[in-house]
This record gives sequence, structure tokens and C-alpha cells, in this order.
Amino acid sequence: MSFSGYKKYIEEGDLVIIYMTRDNMTPIYIKKDTSFNNRFGIFHHNDIIGKQFGSKMVSSNYRGFVYLLHPTPELWTLVLPHRTQILYIADISFITTMLEMKPGVNVIESGTGSGSFSHSIARTIAPHGRLYSFEYHQERVNLATTEFKEHGFGDIIKMHHRDVCKEGFQMKDEVSAVFLDLPAPWDAIASAKEAFKQDRTGKICCFSPCIEQVARSVAALEEHGFIDITMYECLIREHSVAPLQKIDFSEALKDAQERRAKGLPSVDSVAIKRKLSKDEPVPTADEIESTANLMLVSKTVGETRGHTSYLTFATFLPPSAIQFVNASSD
Ligand code: SAM
Repeated sequence: MSFSGYKKYIEEGDLVIIYMTRDNMTPIYIKKDTSFNNRFGIFHHNDIIGKQFGSKMVSSNYRGFVYLLHPTPELWTLVLPHRTQILYIADISFITTMLEMKPGVNVIESGTGSGSFSHSIARTIAPHGRLYSFEYHQERVNLATTEFKEHGFGDIIKMHHRDVCKEGFQMKDEVSAVFLDLPAPWDAIASAKEAFKQDRTGKICCFSPCIEQVARSVAALEEHGFIDITMYECLIREHSVAPLQKIDFSEALKDAQERRAKGLPSVDSVAIKRKLSKDEPVPTADEIESTANLMLVSKTVGETRGHTSYLTFATFLPPSAIQFVNASSD
């Protein structure tokens, strides 16, 4: 089965993402005469075969239900077996855009790790692009090779078992984007420069948790003639949405004056009517309108946590462009 397309009906051997709640999903491979158990009951694989992806399925002992989802790179990132730290979707989507990945583009990544980012890259560049993925840990190479094949990316992802910091990528004039998730990305930058297509610009990204690593990557990128070096950090800010009581301005003023007279804080004058519970859907605008005097507001938490890594991007200039820049500055 393939992660880059969709099929309608579940067959034996397919990978199905079992959705229990938003925070609780698990991948299963469908095998006749076996079953899957969870707190919602027993689900026989024989009953799953032939159902449509996306179906709701009630357990055989009627204790609850799950949804049978088609795998996608986004869902795989949430359920995959962790062999290393992995990239999550906020960083993945940002890097994919900044490295200008699209169908037909050839990309290098190192290391492969658990293959989280590899799935998203492969889906983005399919069917004609190629992902050259480099990893020096033999077992991770074997597991990733099997997974990529099982997930329909066997032709798109070319796995290489190599220490890229010592032996380089050994590629010339082949790719338009390079992504380095390594402890010492600066040691792979000279070799990455050779791997870029030499007749056009290319993009590189180094993903590093510490600012000292960023400084060393920036120095190496400058030394090798990369331009537009820019560092970003991708953080997720949560918005909590709640209906608030609307009040008239003159009423609010009166209320504030009364509160001040009583020595109460004026911020309490706008009272939160009711907070939404965790899984309760946000009411639609019509529902809000029809509920007397309520409006939806969103509030962000004061501190934005969740540092993963710093993203250092740079542009590769082909030799002809460098000659042009030098000639025009003479
Ligand atoms: N981006 C991956 C993902 O989303 O699943 C995770 C990559 S993991 C953090 C880093 C990987 O780089 C590890 O699997 C490690 O074995 C590999 N690695 C570290 N140094 C390397 C080197 N010099 N050459 C090749 N692979 C290397």
C-alpha cells in the first residue's frame, strides 16, 4: 500500500491507523484470524477487511468504537516506533516549504533516524523526485529500508549506509535541497555543496538543538560560499477558545467604577461565562449568535514552550552565479 495515494477498501497486509482519541492512535498491519484489543473492546481483523478507510468500527463486544484511518506521513509521525528523536509536523511543514520541495525535486537528508521526515519528503517529491537518505547506524538503515518499501516509497527513497561527516555524500550535481539532522552538520557542508545541481540555486537546512552548533554551521556555510543564511525557531503557541459574556460599554464603565469603589480588580468585569471542556467542539458562529450575548474569544498562554531545534537555512549559489557576482563587483 502507498502513503502517497489513497485506496478505498482495507485489505489483508494493509497498514491501518487505529484512531481512539486525538491523543491516542496506534498503527496495525491487517492479518487474517488475528484481533486487536484496547479499552473499547476487541476488534477482529477479519471484520476490518473489506471496510472503507475512514469507517467507524464498533468492537465485537460493543464496548466502544474506533476509526480506521488511511496512513499519511502526518499520522505516521504521530504513531511511528521511535528509534531516535524525530521531527514533528510543525518543523516538517516549515522545512519542506523553505527548502522548496515539490514533485520532481531531488533531496538529500541525513541522518534518516526513525524516518519521520523521510515519509513527508517522499510524499512531497513523488513520483519523479528522489530522496537520498544517509544513516550510519546499521540497524536503523535496515529498519528504515523495510519500512520505506512497505509504505510504497521503495522507488523514491534511496537508503545509504554511511558516515557522511567522514565519507561525504559522494554525489555530484544531483540535488536541489539538503537537510542535515546530525550532531555535527558543519562536517557535511563541503560535501553537500558538491551534491547540489551546479546550474541553479539550491537550499540547505541544518537542524540543531544548541546555539553553539548553529554558530559552527553558520561559519561553515559562510566559508563554503552559501548566502542568505537565516536562523529560525519553530514554536507552537496554543490558543484556548472560550465564549465570553458581551457587555455594553456604558455598563462596563459603570461596573468598573463600582468595582473600583469596592476595591475589586476591574479585569473581572468581563466574566468568563463558561470554558469549553477538552473534547467539546467549538460552537459555530450561528450557535454563538443564538446564545444570548456571547462571543468567542481566543487567549494564548503567556509562555511558549516546546523548543526542539534551531533551523539554519542558506542558499547555494552555482559557480556561474558566483562568477557573475564577482564580475559585476569589479
Ligand atoms: N530526522 C530524523 C527523523 O525525523 O526521524 C531523525 C534523525 S536522528 C535525530 C539523527 C540520526 O543521525 C541518528 O539516527 C544518527 O544515527 C544519525 N547520524 C548521526 N551522525 C551521523 C553521520 N555522521 N552520518 C550519518 N548518520 C548520522
